[in-house]
Amino acid sequence: MDIFKALKVYFGYDTFKRGQEELINGIVNGRDALGIMPTGGGKSLCYQLPAMVLSGVTVVISPLIALMKDQVDALTEMGIEATFLNSTLDRAEANEREQGIRDNKYKLIYVAPERLSSFDFKELISNIDVSLVAVDEAHCISQWGHDFRPSYMEIPRFINSLNRRPVVAAFTATATIEVIEEIERLIQLRNPLSLSTGFDRPNLLYKVVKPSDKFSYLMNFLQGYGQTEAGVIYCSTRNTVESLVKKLQDKGISAVGYHGGMNAEERQDNQEAFIFNRSRIIVATNAFGMGIDKPDVRFVVHYNMPKNMEAYYQEAGRAGRDGEESQCILMYSPSDIVKQKLIIQNEYLSPDREQLLYKNLQILIDYCHTNDCLRMQILNYFEEDVPNKDCGKCSNCLDESEMIDITVEAQKILSCIYRAKERFGAEAITQILKGSRNKRIIELGLDKISTYNIMSEYNANVIKEIIMTLSAKGYIHITTDKFPVLKLTTNSRKVLQGEEKVYHKKDSVDNAATKDDKKE
Ligand code: ADP
Ligand code: ZN
Repeated sequence: MDIFKALKVYFGYDTFKRGQEELINGIVNGRDALGIMPTGGGKSLCYQLPAMVLSGVTVVISPLIALMKDQVDALTEMGIEATFLNSTLDRAEANEREQGIRDNKYKLIYVAPERLSSFDFKELISNIDVSLVAVDEAHCISQWGHDFRPSYMEIPRFINSLNRRPVVAAFTATATIEVIEEIERLIQLRNPLSLSTGFDRPNLLYKVVKPSDKFSYLMNFLQGYGQTEAGVIYCSTRNTVESLVKKLQDKGISAVGYHGGMNAEERQDNQEAFIFNRSRIIVATNAFGMGIDKPDVRFVVHYNMPKNMEAYYQEAGRAGRDGEESQCILMYSPSDIVKQKLIIQNEYLSPDREQLLYKNLQILIDYCHTNDCLRMQILNYFEEDVPNKDCGKCSNCLDESEMIDITVEAQKILSCIYRAKERFGAEAITQILKGSRNKRIIELGLDKISTYNIMSEYNANVIKEIIMTLSAKGYIHITTDKFPVLKLTTNSRKVLQGEEKVYHKKDSVDNAATKDDKKE
């Protein structure tokens, strides 16, 4: 059947979404494919439609059990024969489905990656004709990404174990050049048709805010924003989730929590309460979200800064899947950096991997401190060709707050880094500038350098805010080690010699001065 006809007959759509036609054409003509599409871009159709056109069976590898059931239910409703195999089935149910597979009853079979190494599963599949293997959330194979799943490494072996090599198609919503290369190499795609429909989500409004009191900011936002609109609030720890749910409920706002420490039943209940609009808000750790298809999420608030841009973009991207205007708000506070570093330090990591995580974290810290268009920053990160113009729809583009000249402060900070021989991090540099009598500062003789005590009248948070801003602007390089050190860059000289001026938002400086990290 022709793919346009299949689109209409099986799925009831008249036109393809961006990128779908090219990918589907490639796949049905026997070419491997790598589709990079944003959340809500319509990846599923890119393997579901070929499954109906190709003669054999399509095996879909997907990491999330909840997602499988939903997709299979939806397909069954459309009259498409599909099934899934995973650990939630009891023995009798699994036997019945396996028999169905042997009898060629299904066009689509969804499996969790863990199953690929099972001898029984391989045996079962070896007896049927597989036309297509579709790998969903393909970035899970990459160690560069944020969702590495070791069982994804089984995929190439599984494919090679089949009687005839099928077409292989991989899909992901989030991928940098490194991740894309890894997907292609590790899944062993053969000359794939690689297609990216772009990462821009024009209906999302991006904001970075640095409130001195996060909870009051949040309350203000929730009371102003339609009062009924559904949203996700991400926090970095289980404790923050618990306490925030309680604080919201105390204020009469309908909210439930979601984190890995809850039992499965409670998680399921809360997730459903949110999806079916019984609860307006879900407060969650990053355990929540993959595969959740709630189209009308109107806002995603990050109560804490997450660990890197990919995670942020993925989580924020759960807003506005229906294409309607939605907001993504990142609430930054310096203590978020400390939290993320602790998480890295508590993992058992190779030095290389640890460095990578610090580097990725710094990119997001820079995002929180830039005065440039946030959408451009995001798109640049994903290395797309982006027009060099402001989007007009992010907190920086929309910001009319006053910019103040911080060149003198920048010069003091940069000289201090230079005088201290580029050996110290933000904390020590701040202490030197403030003239701290801290034992370590004195012992190291740092009270003898000429920049000691030259910013004594400044609040330490203001100095740190300016340091991070200088990093975001490329005037300081922060090394990516366990104990990051501030270094000068080739651009620092221009500021030191007065050739370039530095500006920053007055609001950000003022907020830093009143910042109380305990108030979260
Ligand atoms: P993704 O997996 O890329 O996040 P989905 O496959 O869940 O996206 O698709 C997102 C939404 O778009 C779904 O509601 C789906 O039914 C719808 N959709 C997919 N393809 C089309 C199409 N060609 N025309 C209209 N709607 C589509
Ligand atoms: Zn912008």
